[in-house]
Amino acid sequence: MIKGVAGVPDILPSEIRNWHYLEAKARQLLENYGYVEIRTPIFEKTELFVRGIGPDTDIVKKEMYTFSDPRHESLTLRPEATAPIMRAFLQHKMYTKGSLVKVYYLGPMFRHERPQAGRFRQFHQIGAEAIGLENPSLDAEVIAMVDHLFADLGIQPIKLLINSVGCKVCRPEFRKRFTVYLEPKVAKLCPDCQERLKRNPLRILDCKNEACQEVIAKAPKLTAVLCHDCGSHFRQVQGALSFLKVDFTINERLIRGLDYYNRTAFEFVNPALGAQNALAGGGRYDGLAEEIEGVSTPAIGFAMGMERTLASLSPALRDPSPSFEGTFIATLGDEAFRSGMLISQELRKKGEKVVLDFEGRSLKSQLRWANKEKFRYCVIIGDEELKKRLVILKDMASAEQSEVPISQVIDRILSFAREKRT
Ligand code: AMP
Repeated sequence: MIKGVAGVPDILPSEIRNWHYLEAKARQLLENYGYVEIRTPIFEKTELFVRGIGPDTDIVKKEMYTFSDPRHESLTLRPEATAPIMRAFLQHKMYTKGSLVKVYYLGPMFRHERPQAGRFRQFHQIGAEAIGLENPSLDAEVIAMVDHLFADLGIQPIKLLINSVGCKVCRPEFRKRFTVYLEPKVAKLCPDCQERLKRNPLRILDCKNEACQEVIAKAPKLTAVLCHDCGSHFRQVQGALSFLKVDFTINERLIRGLDYYNRTAFEFVNPALGAQNALAGGGRYDGLAEEIEGVSTPAIGFAMGMERTLASLSPALRDPSPSFEGTFIATLGDEAFRSGMLISQELRKKGEKVVLDFEGRSLKSQLRWANKEKFRYCVIIGDEELKKRLVILKDMASAEQSEVPISQVIDRILSFAREKRT
């Protein structure tokens, strides 16, 4: 038997309500903040990610699903959506100087990681990008929006960590100090970090290895060397967050796994989730557009992991039981089945949800099933009643039932449905 790929889960019908719930909440909220959906392709030219995310990041070095197409062009399944969105923004000239473009997305991302609880090779993100301005109040609005989304979803308590990762001006100074601190301790670092020390030492801050964590615990701090502009930006972001009453903790080690970030970096964590506790992350990426050869364009965004967010929903929300809705048509006999088909088509054309038994089950088991599936009404058509041109209409919530002329059943259900809606 051919099974699915490890770390690439199916989303089954039994889980889909939760996904729809999360998607609907997120869309509504993001649109309330002025974001409009964008859909970029599932794969892009490999170079976009190498340049955008950074050649020394784990994502680019180890985690990309890269393949050649028949014309030998190197393509990659998107591991994230920020670089593709910036590519689309530049390609379609969505910019006008000094103005802001707000877009959101949702969909699958692909990273070849070691599958474990909360870590998949195909996973889903909802995210947003605010492109065009450097204004620190915008950073605060994006962070407050994510905070708002988690509150709306009833996910609490959740911790917000923020940091400033500096910019092209101040990061080299930090890099120098950090390297000087690390060089005598190189033997204590993991093999990956020994390599990182030569190529991109800042990535060491992101290493999960315990020995490396111990070494960096006493390392110089990035915020201590921020240039004037980055320092001021960071203070203004904190001021705006406090003003908006969004609680945060400064975490000077927070650097995030993608090279394009500058200044503001943030992460929302759910301590209850164990090792894979990051629910969402993001930050400012003013240099990304230039990196992929576009006009310099400041921007900030976030991405939320949908699987981990769903795992954080309270059990009541995680399994929102369907309310009584729609009509089930139970039939007994061939002629009854044919009438049932006609009635269902008619009702569906009027916009109602109707399901008919195709399995030839007994009346009792059809009704049991309709009850389990929480249908609001049941129309029972038996060959005997049919001779009298009657059907039984049963209200599944109250269990009341009555005989109704078959010619009136559609109108009766439609008028019940209308009453329920008003
Ligand atoms: P990133 O794009 O790495 O900043 O990740 C943003 C969010 O996506 C994280 O906070 C996670 O919630 C989620 N995420 C990232 N990688 C994975 C993965 N392999 N499996 C499940 N969720 C992930």
